Amino acid sequence: MEQNMTSLIMIFGATGDLAKRKLFPSLYRLFSRNKLEKFAVIGVARRTISTDEFQQSVKDSVLSALGNKDNLDEFVSHFYYQSHDVADSNSYVSLRKFADEIDAHYDLEGNRIFYLAMAPEFFGPIALHLKSDGLTDVKGYKRLVIEKPFGHDLPSAKELNTQIRTAFSEEEVYRIDHYLGKEMVRNIEVIRFANAIFEPLWNNRYISNIQITSSETLGVEERGRYYETSGALRDMLQNHMMQMVALLAMEPPIKLTTDEIRSEKVKVFRALRTIEGDDVNNYFVRGQYGEGTIDEMPVPNYRDEPMVDKESNTETFVAGKIMIDNFRWAGVPFYIRTGKRMTAKSTKIVVQFKDIPMNLYYQTEKMLNPNLLVIHIQPEEGITLHLNAKKAGGHLDAQEVKLSFANTGVHAMNTPEGYEKLLYDCMRGDATNFTHWDEVAYSWAFVDKISEVWEKTKATFPNYEAGSMGPIEADELLEKDGSFWWPVTNLEVDICK
Ligand code: NAD
Repeated sequence: MEQNMTSLIMIFGATGDLAKRKLFPSLYRLFSRNKLEKFAVIGVARRTISTDEFQQSVKDSVLSALGNKDNLDEFVSHFYYQSHDVADSNSYVSLRKFADEIDAHYDLEGNRIFYLAMAPEFFGPIALHLKSDGLTDVKGYKRLVIEKPFGHDLPSAKELNTQIRTAFSEEEVYRIDHYLGKEMVRNIEVIRFANAIFEPLWNNRYISNIQITSSETLGVEERGRYYETSGALRDMLQNHMMQMVALLAMEPPIKLTTDEIRSEKVKVFRALRTIEGDDVNNYFVRGQYGEGTIDEMPVPNYRDEPMVDKESNTETFVAGKIMIDNFRWAGVPFYIRTGKRMTAKSTKIVVQFKDIPMNLYYQTEKMLNPNLLVIHIQPEEGITLHLNAKKAGGHLDAQEVKLSFANTGVHAMNTPEGYEKLLYDCMRGDATNFTHWDEVAYSWAFVDKISEVWEKTKATFPNYEAGSMGPIEADELLEKDGSFWWPVTNLEVDICK
């Protein structure tokens, strides 16, 4: 793996929300930790602003994300701005000249990272121009970082991939899934493969089911136009949720290298049971929020949000049962659910172990609780193991005890933002936590079968109240299997707080 931290970073969409809220503060954190050797940033966007104005906006975004910081003037002195029209070759030709000058000035060895932080319809055309107008013609490395969504379905993703691959090889493409930058998502592998008490049990003999919930309290906010073309299935399930399933289900890689890990993840995608036709409504549930209350404040119907169709058929919630038909997981459901305007903002994984073969104990006259391993992804980060232990003073009574490790309690100030880690990985040439094309293609193929059915049939929406945990059908999905959703609110990691 290359470790050359010298690079010219070109951010397309440098006046946008992502650049301001995530990319500039993340670059500053890398700078302040001396992780950037020689670097410069060229911000590229449509607006005509001066480099001074751009540097001020970078400064403002660092200040608002991180508060007052040292060396800010030195940091922003590495930032330059170029006004750009993504469809015009002349823009790229002048950008190329400017990039060559900056490269020579900072001695950046011809290393280039092109970060596409723009609307997805521009991804393909920019990649083609970068090649045809000579920006990728460099003596160092060249890497393309590309934001979500990667296509709208499998055919559009293939088309985008073909455009990108004319200019960059697969190894040079870094498809962002920001969940793969999250500390506890990266921890899944370590929890599984570094603990003798988990890995031997990590299969259909001992695990009853795995539940992944990613809930938001926010509604669609200002993103109505985009969300209407996406919905929860495309926006959350095809990428983030499927990536978590793959990390939980994959076989141990023979080595911790990018290729080995990706190859194990791809095998999980290949083993997904195809859900299509009439089965879609047996395995998946969709929902759309109606009016309700969040934090004691009334919130509107999805269909009354800005830029949303009054008769919208777009799902703001999805729950599903995913089956992985391989030797390890045959018969174990992976239940997933994600949605907007739900009770709590929370991403959690609950691994529910099977009941013991014979129960000798009672917990105040009811059966023992199953053992649970809860991985808290956000907002709190940590692990909780739910066990049964003897109740003090009792005779044969058992009670549930929770062993917790809270990442936030221990490393609060040091947990780097996901984007910081992903940018760092990209500069080091480590693509492990980015999505390979094969993963994208398999997950679109899976999701397309579901959206095909849903697009043909109009749902009875709205079907869940804002502030709830989704439609009743999502509960019934698990009840059919004799299961239920573990609540996301009382599984907290609280011990270290
Ligand atoms: P945005 O609308 O805030 O910014 C878009 C940027 O593109 C602006 O800098 C604008 O000047 C530039 N631009 C638009 N049209 C242009 C043109 N014709 N020529 C040159 N520049 C042009 O968008 P955003 O929220 O920053 O999102 C950017 C990308 O990141 C999208 O793909 C989005 O899906 C993805 N993303 C954003 C977030 C987020 O938190 N904002 C999170 C995850 C993914």
